[in-house]
Amino acid sequence: MRSTMQDAPLLIRDIVRHGQWMYADKEIFTATPTGIVSGTFAEVALRAERLAAALTRLGVSRDDRVATLMWNNQTHMEVYLAVPSMGAILHTLNLRLFPDQLVFIINHADDKVIVVDANLVPLLARIKEHIGSVRHIIVNGSMPDAPFEVLDYEELLEAEEPGFDWPDLDEDDAAVMCYTSGTTGEPKGVVYSHRSTWLHSLASTSANSIAFSDRDRCLLVVPMFHVNAWGAAYTAFMAGTELIMPQMFLQGEPLLNMISELRPTLALGVPTIWNDLLRAASEHPHPDLSSLNRILAGGAAVPRFMIEAFRDRHGVDVLQGWGMTETSPLVAVSLPPRGVTGDRETDYRVKAGRVMAGVEIRLTNEEGAVVPRDGAAVGEFELRGPWITGSYYGADAPELFRDGWLRTGDIGTLDPHGFMVITDRSKDMIKSGGEWISSVQLETTVMGHDDVYEAAVIAVADDRWHERPLCVVVRTPGSQVSAEELREYLSTFVAKWWLPEHWSFVETLPKTSVGKFNKRELRRLYAEGELEVSTL
Ligand code: AMP
Repeated sequence: MRSTMQDAPLLIRDIVRHGQWMYADKEIFTATPTGIVSGTFAEVALRAERLAAALTRLGVSRDDRVATLMWNNQTHMEVYLAVPSMGAILHTLNLRLFPDQLVFIINHADDKVIVVDANLVPLLARIKEHIGSVRHIIVNGSMPDAPFEVLDYEELLEAEEPGFDWPDLDEDDAAVMCYTSGTTGEPKGVVYSHRSTWLHSLASTSANSIAFSDRDRCLLVVPMFHVNAWGAAYTAFMAGTELIMPQMFLQGEPLLNMISELRPTLALGVPTIWNDLLRAASEHPHPDLSSLNRILAGGAAVPRFMIEAFRDRHGVDVLQGWGMTETSPLVAVSLPPRGVTGDRETDYRVKAGRVMAGVEIRLTNEEGAVVPRDGAAVGEFELRGPWITGSYYGADAPELFRDGWLRTGDIGTLDPHGFMVITDRSKDMIKSGGEWISSVQLETTVMGHDDVYEAAVIAVADDRWHERPLCVVVRTPGSQVSAEELREYLSTFVAKWWLPEHWSFVETLPKTSVGKFNKRELRRLYAEGELEVSTL
């Protein structure tokens, strides 16, 4: 028997219409060199309509790719709203990629138009000769001496009227695409649909996940070029959540100022950003994080000390989230269950999170057999669901799927209540004497030492044990802490045979294009003898 419900497609244009009407007065704030500017949801939506008209006039039609090379700002939001709603496909470009990676991605996606922030035009100029598919480059901001022919975003909008007639689309049509960061091989394109975006947004409003609502004002530090800012842009319009867009002001000090001035309730970003915010707050005479009631930290393991420092020093709860480009990205959020208090509460926040309704999860061992959800058996996480990708755009990668499940490459445990604990990426695990050592646990633990600002652990070859951990540490300013002291500190938390004997102290750790520790680069530095390593 069929149901009697109406057959209404889930389209991004309806998220736009909803936010435009229900939350017309809500604001999007953008940090600029001369201060904060803002626009209401109603204004942003009307400007998105003008943009759609302008793009249509430029010849953009169904399925054409419109790329962005932009910071988090209001204009980027307008492109986010306009492009999928008009039936074209938004392709967000990661502005921290190397030029040849950008060339590869733009050509692979066959981008027709690029909208670029004026201060990123020099980056585009370096690759302009190699991106033949691109017919128009639209610049956001003043650009009197562009090195090539460009169109001015504001002039394009001024020439149009609002009231664009958003077309009827199929909910399974492509809406947005984003390439993985490509730490192994070429970057791979993931294509999100209108339907997957809708369902992901709805799930993000759930009280068991991030719980975006119209009571929130969200500091969006996670870049809009990285998995749609974890879905926050669309969810904000759906839920009436105001957004603060920091553009390139991503260091602890300006973020601290934005928080005290604009008083967000919620903030999204990777742990390295929050570590920097904690540092800036500790150096400030009167840091004010009192408006924040939660920070969503994800994309990499969140160290326990960070969760405790935000709670104890600033009264802010840290929620951890787990996800990946292939999963839209949100899969799990670490909301502690009711009735759990004290240290046990923190134990839950240290986990990657509990899996949200809509995603199926299982753990498999090296033979591909499913292992128990008992919080002890270790395996690779595999996922299935309406916002999990089933393939890559124009690239075969059968090894990344098993019987319709996405293989995540993340290793860990799953408890009977669906909480994930990540011990490692499979390629980062350390096999010592036939047993696994978790690099994630070592680094998040050592970062709890007061004299450690950042730490990353990689495997190095060992004649006797096959592999042993090398711990690369950035000390806090002024500290002279030694490898012996850190090893001693670690020994109270982990098994003796886990304790690294190889240590290296550096000024900074290499980061990936989205701000995570770049272990591939660390391995290269080690292999080429560029790390000074002491062995205890
Ligand atoms: P990306 O596709 O660039 O967002 O990277 C996804 C990867 O980030 C995942 O496969 C994990 O390895 C890692 N990751 C994301 N969230 C977490 C987390 N909470 N804890 C540990 N690793 C994480």
